[in-house]
Amino acid sequence: MNWKIIRKDVEALRKNLVEIRHDLHQNPELGFEETRTQGIVRMWLENHGYSPTDSAGTGLIADLNPRKDGPTIALRADMDALPMDEGGVLSYRSIIPGKAHACGHDGHTTILMGAAAILARHREAFAGNVRLLFQPAEEGVRGGGATVMVAQGALEGIDEVYGLHSWPGWPKGELRVAAGPVMAQVNTFDITVRGKGGHGSQPQVCRDPIVAASHLVSAIQTVVSRGLGFEGGAVVSVCSFQAGTTHNVIPDEAVLSGTIRTFDEATCERVLERLREVVRGTARSFGVQVELEIDSGFPVLSNDSACAEVVARIGKQVMGEGAVSAKDLPMAGGEDFAYYAQNRPSAFFFLGAQLEGEDTPVCHHPKFDFDDDLIPLGIELFLRIVADRLA
Ligand SMILES: [Zn+2]
Ligand SMILES: [Zn+2]
Repeated sequence: MNWKIIRKDVEALRKNLVEIRHDLHQNPELGFEETRTQGIVRMWLENHGYSPTDSAGTGLIADLNPRKDGPTIALRADMDALPMDEGGVLSYRSIIPGKAHACGHDGHTTILMGAAAILARHREAFAGNVRLLFQPAEEGVRGGGATVMVAQGALEGIDEVYGLHSWPGWPKGELRVAAGPVMAQVNTFDITVRGKGGHGSQPQVCRDPIVAASHLVSAIQTVVSRGLGFEGGAVVSVCSFQAGTTHNVIPDEAVLSGTIRTFDEATCERVLERLREVVRGTARSFGVQVELEIDSGFPVLSNDSACAEVVARIGKQVMGEGAVSAKDLPMAGGEDFAYYAQNRPSAFFFLGAQLEGEDTPVCHHPKFDFDDDLIPLGIELFLRIVADRLA
């Protein structure tokens, strides 16, 4: 592969790809509803000589060399947006209220489209197949799109899987990857506290669920700080507290919701055990009923060490020796790429997007926007991974 020429080819595609990215940004679609996005990707792939097939409803799978002997490398992009309003003043900001591409999946999709176009021009150069996984619903709708794609056979015949995520919390120009756990296991919880409501002036005849739930919020802070040792390794956050309707009525009920992030099974079990104890004990001390519901989400995303090594080596070639590290990994976000990594040797890596001296909005912030400079970079990294594995 002549990387000078390929860089020029990628550069020539850039304007078109940025337009596509902005169009996707302007028309965000939620998990398992990505029909417009799917249509755009399908047409692009067909125009570049692929025969894509639907997967998980609104996703797509396409093979570069379906009948070729040799290994098959999968590249994955997520396509969905978040159920939130977009802030900011972008000319291509979301035109759909309550939906926004605030995690950069518009950018990831565009990167894989660009890689697909260049790969198609060099399909003879590879000693194997490349499978493109355009995945719906990464943001946790109904268990995520990856489980469905895996269940529908997306990984059949696949040897390794690679994926990337832009990360504005880390400096632009950096690539971060690690062997082993890189993202957390996610559990969510809902706690319903049932007391006895009444007049705000008569607490003595009530069982105030607001006070009980408030203590519960504080007590939950000890699940990690007192429940785990000096290494910690877990996050427990209460992110929603719903109770009451007006200033003089003690309600019957308060509802707390939150999230738990852990990086191994034993810590996860310990945290859940402590959470159950704390909830039970606090409820008893306030004479209220509680119901604790725990929903398990994505598992730990654990990179294969050989695949992570490939990404690190190629990252250093493209971005420089000092640009690649495993700093701040694992991080406590969750990712359904974990399901690919559970089934095949895989590596998931991060491209920094924080601008020096600026307060670059992070993922899921209403003013977040994907950095278009990552499009050519992401394409080149994917192409070089493929060239390395299918040399
Ligand atoms: Zn996200
Ligand atoms: Zn994301």
